[in-house]
Amino acid sequence: MFAEVIVDVSANSLDKIFDYKCPENCTIFLGQRVLLPFGKRTIEGYVLNLKESTNLDLSQVKEIIKPLDEQPLILPEMFTLISELKKEYNLRIIDILHLIVPSQIRSGKVKQQTIRNCFLTEYALSHISELKSNSKNQIAACAYLKNKPQESIVTLNKNFGSATINKLIEKGFIDFVTENVNRTPLTEVENNINTEFKPTEKQQLAIQKILSKQNLFNLLFGVTGSGKTEVYMQVIKEALKNNQTAIMLVPEISLTPKTVKQFRSRFGNLVAVLHSGLSDGEKFDEWFRLYNGEAKIAVGARSAIFAPLKNLGAIIIDEEHDSSYQSENNPRYETVTVAKLRAKYNNCPLVLGSATPTIETFYNAQKQSYNLITLDERINKRPLPKMDIVDMCHEFREGNTSLFSNHLLNEMSKAVNNSEQIMLFLNRRGYSSFQMCRECGFLAKCSDCDVSLVYHKEDNLLKCHYCGKKFKTLTKCPNCQKSSIKLGNTGTEKIEQELSELFPNTKVFRMDNDTTTTKSSHAKILGEFEKTKPAILVGTQMIAKGHDFPSVTLVGILDADLSLFYSDFKANEKTFQLVTQVAGRAGRAEKEGKVVLQTFFPKHYVYNFCSSYDYLRFYNKEINLRETASFPPFSKIIRILVTAEEDEPAKNLTHELFLKCKDLRVNNKSDFYFLEAMRSPHAKIKRKYRYQVLMRIKENKPELVNQIFEIANVINSKVSVFVEVNPQNLS
Ligand code: ADP
Ligand code: ZN
Repeated sequence: MFAEVIVDVSANSLDKIFDYKCPENCTIFLGQRVLLPFGKRTIEGYVLNLKESTNLDLSQVKEIIKPLDEQPLILPEMFTLISELKKEYNLRIIDILHLIVPSQIRSGKVKQQTIRNCFLTEYALSHISELKSNSKNQIAACAYLKNKPQESIVTLNKNFGSATINKLIEKGFIDFVTENVNRTPLTEVENNINTEFKPTEKQQLAIQKILSKQNLFNLLFGVTGSGKTEVYMQVIKEALKNNQTAIMLVPEISLTPKTVKQFRSRFGNLVAVLHSGLSDGEKFDEWFRLYNGEAKIAVGARSAIFAPLKNLGAIIIDEEHDSSYQSENNPRYETVTVAKLRAKYNNCPLVLGSATPTIETFYNAQKQSYNLITLDERINKRPLPKMDIVDMCHEFREGNTSLFSNHLLNEMSKAVNNSEQIMLFLNRRGYSSFQMCRECGFLAKCSDCDVSLVYHKEDNLLKCHYCGKKFKTLTKCPNCQKSSIKLGNTGTEKIEQELSELFPNTKVFRMDNDTTTTKSSHAKILGEFEKTKPAILVGTQMIAKGHDFPSVTLVGILDADLSLFYSDFKANEKTFQLVTQVAGRAGRAEKEGKVVLQTFFPKHYVYNFCSSYDYLRFYNKEINLRETASFPPFSKIIRILVTAEEDEPAKNLTHELFLKCKDLRVNNKSDFYFLEAMRSPHAKIKRKYRYQVLMRIKENKPELVNQIFEIANVINSKVSVFVEVNPQNLS
């Protein structure tokens, strides 16, 4: 028997199949992890195929040393994923395998945790009198175990000393059984306390439509608070009834612990959680609980789409528009692509849920590639919060140069006086966005990245938000030695400070990357905010997601324009999504909510449609723009990103790749809308110079995409080359 093996080394040159002989003394399974001789080294690999013969010279074929796990870690379904993802995104097979088998599972460092439960033997009962009277501890331990049929060895060692317990084991007085224990996150969540709702008529229709599998792919388009979660849970319940499993994806778990808790309390231990915030041991145990079939629902962030579940009955992607579903580091992939492959393989429904679907998703629904299911009202017909648009130019003309309009301050005072809660959103952390010299224009920049440094007052430092590097604050200009240092735009840290002056008796909380550096800090801030009334929570987009605080009646969006003038074709869409999501935090319970949106462009159509919650009109306008300018979904954006420690080699290689793409265009003229090579907008990040070849090509041209992949397949020790298909971010 021979095995086709992929070796566990991330290098383009090794991303191919090697033939190995299977050892005679054991069986090798398809998908198994194996130990291999490779050159002079011993490395790990994965068996991707088994066959009777090889075309290679037998003397050249080495033998597998041994399998590394009892069972194959790669399920049969995953082979489809491997070949399709390789085709779609030009990924290395080994990198896809690393997604399928996370590092905690394959490193060998994390082990199943076990405990020994001790009990008194029959022998002990009849020989207990033989213990010498001075062995007091031994006698006491036996007496203890006589009253307690089982006790963990840890407790016994603690109470009686490990020497004592070891002696009793040696004498045959104590024996033990070894038990596996699971390290489970969320142990504090009570099981089975969340009672089901009787679905409303609209929810019921949605559930039926999804289960009918008329079309496997569904878009559940429901306004914030319309009860989408209950629909997901009912669909999953149905899958469980049919003895199937399910995947439930949420954007960022640490920000939205609510969903996980809801699922855990409804479905108990059938839920396993997968996300990057788990300890290695927890990840290991949760993964194997899914693999063994002990848990049937994987709730998690992006990576959970690869959960080792067999017989899937439902896949759900909540807040499908969220950018965290797209991986921005190698291996780059879109979660929905994987989800569709798995849904097709298992013939199970895929549900994408959102109040603000991406333009691409909604376009697919319009073209009937997706079933469009609409929930257009909040549960109990609660109104969506009224949104006031405040013209900040007007405020400025009236002499108000602060970040708070008079209208917002009035509304805040009202809310505070009523003991209600306020959320203030500003997508810029730190104290001020930059420090510069008024005299000569010197701007403090990171030495490793081509970006300006952000001033943080708390620790009186300048910080790079790209690489985290810290620098001394400027007191005088290093260029002209004058000390007229100017601060840039206000960030969350400064807002927090200003609020404590404006509302000295109201507690102010802040949630952004700086205040949430530890694992539990999100939960802590949110938990305290929830309990405090009145209170103000200031934050970046972290506060936009899914939170459900009944006492929040006022939401302030301090500078809505921040995302609007980003040089990105998705800027309008992202602004619409962000504003709608933040606004959705207000007035979720009995009290009506209000939103104050501050902008310098009050007439902009995006704000117009935001304030009337009119996604459809926004979509119609946006899709026309996209079509006219041939942007996705009417085209595919491809970027070849070239990075290197030195500028020259990166620049030269980029030029070379550009010329090759130009040649490709000669024969495919009508398929190219755009082709250009340039420095990336951030010309240097983390000491690496960045260039890019940017293209827009016709949709559905897989051969052309393949040829671009071929061009970018360069092996160069100094320069790295990545191809990104429809990247989220072109910085
Ligand atoms: P969405 O996910 O669409 O934003 P949620 O699932 O958070 O909305 O639901 C909004 C609120 O309505 C929640 O407090 C939820 O518990 C409640 N809810 C959902 N479905 C029902 C129902 N059928 N009957 C009563 N309340 C419901
Ligand atoms: Zn930097």
